[in-house]
Amino acid sequence: MQAKIIDGKAVAERIRGELKVRAAEFEKKSGRKSGLAVVLVGADPASQVYVRNKIAGCEQAGINSLAHYLDADTTQDALEALIDKLNADKNVDGILVQLPLPKHLDERRVLSRVAVGKDVDGFHAENAGALMLGEDCLAACTPSGSIELIKSTGVDMAGKNAVVIGRSNIVGKPVALLLLRENCTVTICHSKTQNIAQIAKTADILVAAIGKKEFVTGDMIKPGAIVIDVGINRHEGKLYGDVNFEEAAKLASHITPVPGGVGPMTIVMLLSNTLKAAELSLKAGR
Ligand code: NAP
Repeated sequence: MQAKIIDGKAVAERIRGELKVRAAEFEKKSGRKSGLAVVLVGADPASQVYVRNKIAGCEQAGINSLAHYLDADTTQDALEALIDKLNADKNVDGILVQLPLPKHLDERRVLSRVAVGKDVDGFHAENAGALMLGEDCLAACTPSGSIELIKSTGVDMAGKNAVVIGRSNIVGKPVALLLLRENCTVTICHSKTQNIAQIAKTADILVAAIGKKEFVTGDMIKPGAIVIDVGINRHEGKLYGDVNFEEAAKLASHITPVPGGVGPMTIVMLLSNTLKAAELSLKAGR
């Protein structure tokens, strides 16, 4: 079998088109553009690129973007004061604090300061909890994007065995909960799991979110599986996923490439969450 490639750029483009329509409808109904505030503390080059891409994504979709660049030595109080201001700003529907924050700042406290309804990253404990309870909420972007890619294959997820390798709060755990929501039977593996290869081989849907170049090899793939590779690993100037693409593509039915798979989905899901937050606040008359 040679797997079909799941083209993340094409799926992201289709969703971007839908978002443009939603953004225009929101503007017509509310009399203002939806807005995303992005906060960057310090000048980490990778974070600067991510922020630039998010702002460009907003522009393409017709969403206002407001970037706040703060010095690397910004205090916890000053950052929280800015978040409070953005929480109260009626033109701001979503707030994204670019991670990682400089070490002197308490990341958890900062993320919890963002109003739940504006938490478009889905990292607030209340949104994470709502996801666990199976309630409608703002869910984390990369996990939601991974689910959209699985849906794009047209394969019915209900009853499928899904294996997630990785249990981080930003990818592994939320993606597992979203797969459960789609009625998959979900197994989560992590660094202490024994017999990972054996468990991975039971997966009709395999999600790799490990952060280790080509960790998943061909012998770990069930023939016909859908393979979603979340990993981004830089090695000698090239990007690699957590899956050995060549080996896995010989067995899988569908597979995401790196780059061009999950990566392009994260920003569109962020924009989608911003519009969802805007629509909900309009509905609530805020
Ligand atoms: P993370 O916080 O470092 O978590 C990695 C997870 O992998 C942990 O749960 C860890 O287990 C598990 N793990 C590590 N080594 C393992 C091993 N040998 N066997 C089994 N499990 C192992 O990373 P993350 O933030 O979730 O990110 C994962 C990858 O996705 C990274 O490459 C990251 O760059 C990428 N990523 C991509 C996007 C995107 O937009 N495409 C977004 C976010 C992240 P323990 O919990 O036991 O330590």
